[in-house]
Amino acid sequence: MAMHLKHLFGPVISRRLGISLGVDLVPYKHCPLNCVYCEVHQTTDLAVTRQEFFPLDQVVAELDSYLSARPNLDYITFSGAGEPTLYSRLGELIAYLKSHYPEYALCLISNSVLFADAEVRRVIQPCDVILPSLDAVSQDIFEQINRPLAGLRADDLIAGLISLRQEYEHKLWLEIFIVPGLNDTDEELDKLAHAVQLIKPDKVQINSLDRPGTEEWVTEASRQTLHHARQIIAQSIVAPVEIIARIKYERPREPLDADTIEAIRSVLIRKPSAAEDLAQTLCLHINEVCKVLRQLAMEERVRAVRQNSKVMYQWLSHQN
Ligand code: SF4
Repeated sequence: MAMHLKHLFGPVISRRLGISLGVDLVPYKHCPLNCVYCEVHQTTDLAVTRQEFFPLDQVVAELDSYLSARPNLDYITFSGAGEPTLYSRLGELIAYLKSHYPEYALCLISNSVLFADAEVRRVIQPCDVILPSLDAVSQDIFEQINRPLAGLRADDLIAGLISLRQEYEHKLWLEIFIVPGLNDTDEELDKLAHAVQLIKPDKVQINSLDRPGTEEWVTEASRQTLHHARQIIAQSIVAPVEIIARIKYERPREPLDADTIEAIRSVLIRKPSAAEDLAQTLCLHINEVCKVLRQLAMEERVRAVRQNSKVMYQWLSHQN
């Protein structure tokens, strides 16, 4: 179902979370990191200051309106085109959802930077699952992959994750995104394995690029590289270590929303467009557009081409 709401997107179906309603709480690309693989491209506001970017009442009203029909959802997920923990009223929103809609499980997807803040760790405790990221242990690799706001340290991010694990009783699934040439060396993988041993997540999920990221030079990791990374990291914990990257030879399994495809097709047959422009034109959430484009590209119905610094999508004329 495509929705024209400001803070909600989806629901999307994913292998990790099943049916998940996305809740976006921060302005587009407001984030303490500027990852080279980011699907929503360059960070426009590198920030660590928590703010009430949108009135809590506005977010609650959208959620009340959507959830009043008691839709079938596996998760309500705080994610989006920026870092959700930057929303200063996240804790109150979590408490509201837990008291008014206890039947829905809550998920937080985060880049882990703000877990160094004890207050942030405290307010997210009621979430049913947290999916934090950690891509590098060495400061220079952290800076090359995640391009953080000046002064942010990989050590602090890891210390925040260790503290979170000690305080948090629910599921913690750590994601590691492999960027070939940067964090796939044995040296960095050994450091990541050691960090994983200290963090003690319930699961580790290894990911890789499956659509154009912010930087052209970022490539997807080969199957061999992903398996090698899994092997090294699996030596450090008994918890499962999974590869979640979709590798080219795997066919997508997620059904796409027909209305969203048709809306995207109607624009792209006239002119190639960037994901951000499609989202704006069609009043769809950027994450939803990116997700559909990713699958359409895998099905070879659209092609991504780079023009200057932008990734433009073309509809392939031989496809309906
Ligand atoms: S991938 Fe996530 S953490 Fe990295 S820049 Fe994009 S929104 Fe921020």
